[in-house]
Amino acid sequence: MLKFKKPKKFDYNLIVIGAGAAGLVSSYIASTLNARVALIEKNKMGGDCLNTGCVPSKALIRSAKAISQITNHKKYALKNASCEFDFAEIMERVQTIIKKIEPHDSIKRYTELGVECITGEAKITSPYVVQVGEKKYTTQAIVVATGASPLIPNIPGLESANIYTSESIWHLREQPKDMIVIGGGPIGCELAQSFQRLGTQVTLVEKMGPYLMGREDDDVAKEVTERLSNEGVKILTEHSLIEFQKKEGGNYVVLENNGKKLSLPYTACLIALGRKANVKGFGLEELGVQIRNDGTIEANEFLQTNYDNIFVCGDVTGPFQFTHTAAHQAYYASVGAVFHPLFKWLPKFVKAKFLKVDYTVIPWATYTDPEVATVGLTEKVAKAEHIQYEVTTYGIDDLDRAIADSDDNGFVKVLTQPGTDKVLGATIVHSRASDLITEFILAMRMGFGLNSILGTIHIYPTMSEANKYLAGNWKKSRKPERVLQVLRKLFAWLRGSK
Ligand SMILES: Cc1cc2nc3c(=O)[nH]c(=O)nc-3n(C[C@H](O)[C@H](O)[C@H](O)COP(=O)(O)OP(=O)(O)OC[C@H]3O[C@@H](n4cnc5c(N)ncnc54)[C@H](O)[C@@H]3O)c2cc1C
Repeated sequence: MLKFKKPKKFDYNLIVIGAGAAGLVSSYIASTLNARVALIEKNKMGGDCLNTGCVPSKALIRSAKAISQITNHKKYALKNASCEFDFAEIMERVQTIIKKIEPHDSIKRYTELGVECITGEAKITSPYVVQVGEKKYTTQAIVVATGASPLIPNIPGLESANIYTSESIWHLREQPKDMIVIGGGPIGCELAQSFQRLGTQVTLVEKMGPYLMGREDDDVAKEVTERLSNEGVKILTEHSLIEFQKKEGGNYVVLENNGKKLSLPYTACLIALGRKANVKGFGLEELGVQIRNDGTIEANEFLQTNYDNIFVCGDVTGPFQFTHTAAHQAYYASVGAVFHPLFKWLPKFVKAKFLKVDYTVIPWATYTDPEVATVGLTEKVAKAEHIQYEVTTYGIDDLDRAIADSDDNGFVKVLTQPGTDKVLGATIVHSRASDLITEFILAMRMGFGLNSILGTIHIYPTMSEANKYLAGNWKKSRKPERVLQVLRKLFAWLRGSK
């Protein structure tokens, strides 16, 4: 670590670099505390989530879902239903929705919130100085929230392969007749299903097998894989991308499966192989800020780097790459950053209680249809980490509301601590999973168990009853047999029989 001269006075208490979810929330919190804070963004306010991530993908998914509901109109006893659409208009709708949300993340709003917004590329020249163009700003602390970019592996033929990523796909205005999606994780699956529903023939390639979404439990991943396959997506698991080729004027991908090569032509190819942290070109290398093997910035439990006044949050440090975890980390990073000059006087328990980042309850969702929403432990992780658990499931094909909606599929699966009703983790597979999971997030966060969910009135007929029925299944398999035997005898005696 290099030594730098500390200024006697600072322009700011905090400079935040990057105005994505992590940076926006960091600057807002610091400003709410009345710290003087500057937020520097080189591109668009709102970062990945608003401009190329969550918002456009969910907008596209909604149009694709509308088309799918019309295509499946017989399910709702409709004799005829069809729709005409213009692909370019659907992609324009995505931009209109971004525009509608843009004011939430705008310079105007953040300026009104007391944040000084600076447009330009930030460069950290010392732990106390950030430069934008010719201007230098001194600061007591820095929050690095520079996010991540699509990971593009160095594959032969890449230069002329004409590929799309989750950043560039939103420029498409002419519908490709076919598309190869490389990567069967959340982004690959969400976009593959959407394009297939819009009428593009999608082939989804995943290196691992046998299912897509390999991070989830097998029963969960199987359900999504089967649904995508039933909708017409051609799924190639256990296939690795080894080369791009250009021949006879056409583009081809070369895949390998069990030593055999397969060459596939394509009109469009989307690479969705994960995201790499943005750590280069803005001073971290020169300062010697520590980077992990996976390319993210190393940080301690307070989200401090090896420089104690440089904090990090969001995709640039991980370990999660979600908007809500970026915002969650932002609280700890910004509060830690503005109070860090007082760290040495703070009692240990105060730091541990208020400033140590809390990863105990982390939820996430993938917005395929069915959606997959998870909080806490999955069976896969529990087994890998040798954590004892009991598992309870409830099939949503049994739920009155789901049946009424002709959406009776999927399940709720909950892991509990053996011998107790404490929820260790929950996964829901259903078109409404991302909303339904909230009850289990709350249960884990607030420390109430399945008995409390069972004892709570849920409105009939709602999808949320699935959570209550799951709790009911848990209870049924733990019936107090002795008490029930005594009651059987009691009631027999009351009836006057032996
Ligand atoms: C297709 C897709 C769908 C997604 N869907 C979801 C979802 O449904 N739910 C969910 O929770 N997450 C989703 N994500 C992930 C989510 O978008 C990210 O986790 C989140 O945006 C991370 O926020 P961040 O602030 O860490 O980074 P970013 O949003 O990437 O922000 C970083 C900002 O820093 C700026 N920057 C970088 N370097 C500098 C510099 N030197 N100077 C000035 N500015 C700089 C960048 O321009 C950028 O604006 C999705 C991602 C993708 C790609």
